Amino acid sequence: MIDLILKKGKERSLLRRHPWVFDTAVQRLTGKAASGETVRVVSHDGRFLAWAAFSPVSTLRARCWSFDETEVIDDAWFAKKIHDAVAAREPLRERSNALRLIFGEADGLPGLIVDQYADCVVTQFQSAGVEAHRELIADLLMKETGCRTIFDRSDAATRKREGLEMRSELLRGEEPPEAIEAVEDGVRYGVDVRIGHKTGFYVDQRESRLTAQKVAEEFRRVHGRGMRALNCFCYTGGFSLALLKGGAAEVVSVDSSQDALDMAKANAERNGFEANRAKFVCEDVFTYLRKLRDAGETFDLVILDPPKFASNHHQVDRAARAYKDINLNGLRLLTPGGQLFTFSCSGAISVELFQKIVAGAVFDAHVNAWAVGRFGGGADHPLLMTYPEGEYLKGLHLLVRP
Ligand code: SAH
Repeated sequence: MIDLILKKGKERSLLRRHPWVFDTAVQRLTGKAASGETVRVVSHDGRFLAWAAFSPVSTLRARCWSFDETEVIDDAWFAKKIHDAVAAREPLRERSNALRLIFGEADGLPGLIVDQYADCVVTQFQSAGVEAHRELIADLLMKETGCRTIFDRSDAATRKREGLEMRSELLRGEEPPEAIEAVEDGVRYGVDVRIGHKTGFYVDQRESRLTAQKVAEEFRRVHGRGMRALNCFCYTGGFSLALLKGGAAEVVSVDSSQDALDMAKANAERNGFEANRAKFVCEDVFTYLRKLRDAGETFDLVILDPPKFASNHHQVDRAARAYKDINLNGLRLLTPGGQLFTFSCSGAISVELFQKIVAGAVFDAHVNAWAVGRFGGGADHPLLMTYPEGEYLKGLHLLVRP
């Protein structure tokens, strides 16, 4: 077993059980370790810190499997990790068959993302450590889930940083159908695991979609009519369908991708929603929000769930301006008493910064607003308390006051 010896003082984050070892923290290795090989991480004076997977090219030089010296990182160890992760999601199954089964670092398997859609499992191997155990992990997933298919979507750009090739292929079982039907809180969604974003669907927005459904129901109860809503960056219609299910009178869904809109439309039909309640618009949101305002259009609810505007801290300022712009123009379209669901999935934008940006937009829009709720990933995207980087998705539910 090769030792990875840290520089003096660099043991501190590991002693707090943070799972990453940066290249700059490494003093030397006692031998040549292969990509993904398990190494023993020790402090400069030889104290055991962790078992970790070595990654020769990544700035994340090693990612920790375990901080317990007595543990052995073998097949049985992986079997237990995967079993525990899958078991932890069991309570969600009564609401949905679209679940994140494994959320990387939070599940003690750094770099491994596993989502399940009905009887299809989709994997993303984003670190050298999990890549080296790919076949074992695939076998264990088949066993734990009883699924028919594992499709590997290891095609995220993050693979390059680990020195791994991008890959998108069938890993186990039968070819998945073009659209797998997932059912979440009574709504049907078609998921294309081959070409869809991430693993095909935004599983992380389950709780926010349920809130959208409830808000639409409540609006109908209180006002005696269905709400008019605008869903910006709608992708395959996640929020739109939840609102229609909740009884919204009209939902305008906007995206710049016609393919995404086609799927969103098919999803609306899949649920039997009347076509006149669901409008789909292929436009750039930044310009479309201005067009709507010029046309004097108003909405009872606006949803802003854009793609990641900042991929790293260098992009934070530019991203902040983009978030401010859509939030300001989104707020301007609201009726008095209207609501805004606004999100950021940029890890580089903190919860506090996002709140400040939205507060700036509220101020500039000359409205008074309450935040009546906060959004985040669901129970299948838990925040490991020793790993704050895991919190990427954040959102606010605003209510415009008279
Ligand atoms: N809200 C979605 C996920 C959004 S993903 C859900 O809950 O499922 C981001 C989406 O924004 C993608 O579908 C992408 O096509 C779209 N997009 C990116 N930039 C855009 C722009 N400037 N205008 C409109 N849509 C855009």
